[in-house]
Amino acid sequence: MGKVILTGDRPTGRLHVGHYVGSLRRRVELQNEGDYDRMFVFMADVQALTDNADNPEKIRQNIIEVALDYLAAGLDPEKCTLFIQSQIPELSELTTYLMNLITVSRVQRNPTVKTEIKMRNFEANIPLGFFCYPVSQAADITLFKANIVPAGEDQEPMLEVTRELVNRFNNTYGPVLVEPSIMLPPEGACRRLPGIDGKAKMSKSLGNCIYLSDTADEVWQKVRSMYTDPTHVNLNDPGHVEGNMVFTYLDAFSTPEDFAECWPEYSGLDELKEHYCKGGLGDMKCKKFLNRVLNRTLEPMRERRREFEKDIPEVYNILKKGTESAREVAARTIDEVRHAMRIDYFNDAALIAEQAERFASKQQ
Ligand code: ATP
Ligand code: MG
Repeated sequence: MGKVILTGDRPTGRLHVGHYVGSLRRRVELQNEGDYDRMFVFMADVQALTDNADNPEKIRQNIIEVALDYLAAGLDPEKCTLFIQSQIPELSELTTYLMNLITVSRVQRNPTVKTEIKMRNFEANIPLGFFCYPVSQAADITLFKANIVPAGEDQEPMLEVTRELVNRFNNTYGPVLVEPSIMLPPEGACRRLPGIDGKAKMSKSLGNCIYLSDTADEVWQKVRSMYTDPTHVNLNDPGHVEGNMVFTYLDAFSTPEDFAECWPEYSGLDELKEHYCKGGLGDMKCKKFLNRVLNRTLEPMRERRREFEKDIPEVYNILKKGTESAREVAARTIDEVRHAMRIDYFNDAALIAEQAERFASKQQ
């Protein structure tokens, strides 16, 4: 079986560095390695509407922001298919069929959905669409027969639900859908990057983000205000790196080249951490280094973004073409799904003949 990669983001805001280390960086690497049959990256606007039903304008405005972030990060429309979820009606159809194969209590057990319900104060009034989004996500993945989903660890429960649905579908109707697996980033810090306040996961909805499109100034303001180690008061106090956002972000972003080029006094991150823990290394120095590390990744993105911003109609055109191409794949799978479910009445000459015969014999 070939490799089909699929992953997406909710167009609820610009993309941040959490998206980048959790998924986007890996997508660009996979794309450039080229070892796959097909790669899809999509904007989950239908999913974004499940908790933004009263604010469609927010989604509409953010489609272009996310598209620009994709292109700025290095996704290449020649190598991967970029599309918009709502423009693929086959997704809603498959979602409807999959909903029959899962129970309410199974969806309720999903820990990511539980956390998100709390975060949004939905406890008493959960929109049904929001509650069901893991099923719609299973449709996103399976309609394209994706078997690899590069994502952060919040997506693990979704992939579990998807695999269960694939098995239920295939056992009930026949082998049409494909079981996917998640591709998590290898580094712990990247699987769920915390926000700059060190409290929860970096999330568009929580306002604790460094955005890929932030200016160098904005990045520095955010890095400067970052939560570090409250017990590290004087320079010579021993410091702690666990729970210290500067070091968590260095774990996620810094490379040996960053040290060689920007801070050659240290052989690498381990030596820097050692010094910090021993005492005698100030937060400000570490923050300045982190700021340089971040900008080494973000500056080329800002430049590419500026280029793509010059021709916005072309960006929409890229999305349109990608959506058309994705829809061809979607139509093929949905035909197979309907056939397996025996609801392809008009394509089933045997059925029509059989029924004709049954009714003809009644008339005699
Ligand atoms: P929202 O608050 O609207 O849900 P979000 O910031 O959680 O937005 P999503 O669009 O839900 O972003 O997630 C898109 C992808 O980015 C998923 O693969 C998810 O795992 C990954 N991701 C999002 N936030 C982080 C993070 N802080 N660390 C690692 N990966 C993340
Ligand atoms: Mg999310």
